[in-house]
This record gives sequence, structure tokens and C-alpha cells, in this order.
Amino acid sequence: MILILLGPPGSGKGTQAKRLVKQRGFTHLSTGDMLREAVKNETELGLKVKSIMDTGELVADDLIIGLITEKMQEVGGAAFMLDGFPRNLTQAEKLDEIFVAENLSVDRVIFLNVAEEELVKRLSGRFYCPKCNAGYNYPAHLPKVDGVCDTDGEKILRRPDDEEDVVRNRLKVYHRLTSPLENYYREKGLLAEISAGEHPDRVTESIMKVITATW
Ligand code: AMP
Repeated sequence: MILILLGPPGSGKGTQAKRLVKQRGFTHLSTGDMLREAVKNETELGLKVKSIMDTGELVADDLIIGLITEKMQEVGGAAFMLDGFPRNLTQAEKLDEIFVAENLSVDRVIFLNVAEEELVKRLSGRFYCPKCNAGYNYPAHLPKVDGVCDTDGEKILRRPDDEEDVVRNRLKVYHRLTSPLENYYREKGLLAEISAGEHPDRVTESIMKVITATW
């Protein structure tokens, strides 16, 4: 099964993806995570994309398409979900071409819909552990000791692109370039819209219902 997780920054794609990995054994392919890893390791790709990521703009399509194609090949026939890709119509059309060539198809596009004020609130309270990548949120999901990861005691950090001015730009970029994908997939009959402003457990339940009905 192939799923696409679609939604604005802060809609919970990463959180829900981690749960789907645990509960249903999906492989999680997040272009944002891949790029952050490249930046952290200062690879050639990482050095190319860092400054653009820090502004909240999108990285060039050819770089992303090359990256995701390679990762999808590594996954082989396993069930996987795409998180953060495709991010614009060019990428969606390219994905369709790749899938036609590989005899694959998207089973469902899960669209996590959240009100704008809630997104800004969530992103400005978001922290992560640089060691184990666990996510925290002030005040919704606090670590046991303020500022420190529950699992390994590392100091938790804010992503540079979660600073307020960058968050506002990322939301603008979403509306301008990514939100047209909602209709793109709706017209193909693939979009499952989920009200994702609720507690993460409720959102997971809604996603599971869609998956069970599809699979
Ligand atoms: P994310 O973690 O998905 O919010 O992605 C973080 C940043 O990585 C984005 O703001 C973009 O700069 C870049 N990025 C991630 N996925 C893509 C993509 N599919 N196309 C272009 N840029 C991307």
C-alpha cells in the first residue's frame, strides 16, 4: 500500500507517520527528514539546501525528485508513506510518471486539515530531541523535565524553520504551491480529508479507519 500524507506544516504528518510505522509497519519516507539529515552531516546535498530550508522556501524539484526516487527504490515492494512529497504540481506529475513506469499507484492521500491559528500555535511550541528525534510540544506534550528529552536526557531544540517569521513563510508557501494538490488528488478520487485539529489519538483513529476501508 502506498499512502501520501498531505497537510500544512504543523498538521501532524510526522507524528502520525511515526504511529503508522509502529502500528502498521509502514516505511516512512519524509523528504524533510532526509534533507535535515543531509544538512546535519554536511553532505554535498546538505550544503546546497541549508540556506533555502532556513527561509521556509522549497528546495529545487530536481534535487528532491532525485532523492525520493532513490529512497523509493530502496524500499522495494514494502508498504510506504510519503510525507512532505509531493509538494507542488510539478512533483505530483513527476510522481505519477514514475509510478506508471514502475507499475505502482497511490492508494490514498490522507489530507490533515487544521485551522491556521492552531498551526502557528503548534509550530511555535514545537521542540525535538537531536539524538532520538522524539517530538515535544509546549504546552500540549511536555517533557518530564523542562527542556530535556525523556528518553536520553539531551537538551531539546527548536528547528530553525520553526521560528515565527519562517513559520509564516512556510504557511504562505504551502498555500501558494502545495494546497493545489488537495484538488489534484480530490479529482482523482484519492483524497481522504481528516479533521486534524483534534487530539493526536483521535486523528490516528480517523486515519486507521481510512486505511482499513482502503486496504
Ligand atoms: P518539512 O519537514 O516537510 O516541513 O520540510 C522542511 C523543509 O524541507 C521545507 O520547508 C523545504 O525547504 C524542504 N522540503 C521538504 N520536502 C520538500 C519537497 N518535496 N520539495 C521541496 N522542498 C522540500
